[in-house]
Amino acid sequence: MIYFVGAGPGAPDLITVRGKELIERCDQLIYAGSLVNPALLDFAKKDCRIYNSASMTLEDVMARFVQGEQEGWLTVRLHTGDPSIYGAIREQIDGLKARALPFAVVPGVSSFCGAAAALNAEYTLPGVSQTLIISRAAGRTATPAGEDLSRLAASGASMAIFLSAALIDEVRGKLLEAGLSPETPAAIVYKATWPEERIIRGTVGALADMGRELGEDKTALILAGGFLEGGGERSKLYDPSFGHAFRKAE
Ligand code: SAH
Repeated sequence: MIYFVGAGPGAPDLITVRGKELIERCDQLIYAGSLVNPALLDFAKKDCRIYNSASMTLEDVMARFVQGEQEGWLTVRLHTGDPSIYGAIREQIDGLKARALPFAVVPGVSSFCGAAAALNAEYTLPGVSQTLIISRAAGRTATPAGEDLSRLAASGASMAIFLSAALIDEVRGKLLEAGLSPETPAAIVYKATWPEERIIRGTVGALADMGRELGEDKTALILAGGFLEGGGERSKLYDPSFGHAFRKAE
C-alpha cells in the first residue's frame, strides 16, 4: 500500500496523527527533500528505506512504488503541507492507477494555515473578505488564462500566493495592476512553523523591498489583503441578536 501523506508546514508536531503513525510503520519513505522538515524522518523505523525525491524523476519515484508493492512494503510518499496544493500527486496517482497499485491520500496542514497561525490572522473577516484565493505568479509553470494574479486580486479577496517569492516584483506589479491600493496590507511569511520562521509585514507597494529583506531562501508565502489589518464587522455567528440552529437570538 502506498500513502501520500501531508507532512504539514514544517514543525514536526504539525503532521496529523495518522500521518505520523504511517511514517512509524512504513518500510519505505520517499520525501520531498526541498521542503519537508527532515526532523520528520526521525519517526521512521531504523531499517526504513528513505529516499529524497529532490533528485528523483517521476519515473524514479514510480520505480520505488512498484518495487515496494512487489516486496509487500508499506510506502509513504511525504509531501510538504497538504498534498492537494502544488503537490504534483496527480501524475503519481495516474501512474498507480495505470498499474492497478493501491494507494490513499492523508491530508496535512497546508503552509497557508501555518502562515495564518503565525500572524494570528483570519482570512475570512466579515466586512473585509469572505474569500481566500490560493494562487501563484506564472513562473516556469504557466497559469491558465483567466487566472492571472491581476484578475484574481481585482476581486478584493484575501490572497495567499505560493511559489512566488523569487518573483515578488512581478507579484507587486500584478496586484497593483489589479487595482489594489499600494497601501493594502501585505506580509511575507518565511518558513512558517519552522524554528527559523520569519514574518515581514508591510504593504503591497513595499513588496519589492520586503522581498529583498527575505534573502536567498525563498520558502515563503506572500499574503495580501485587508484581513492582515483585522477590523471589519463582528461575526453574526456569535452575535447575541443573531439566532441559528444551535442558539436562539436574545
Ligand atoms: N503543498 C504545500 C505547498 C507546496 S508548493 C502546502 O500545502 O503548503 C511550495 C511552496 O509552498 C513554497 O514555494 C512556499 O510558497 C510555500 N511553503 C511551503 N512551506 C512553507 C512554509 N513553512 N512557510 C511558508 N511558505 C511555505
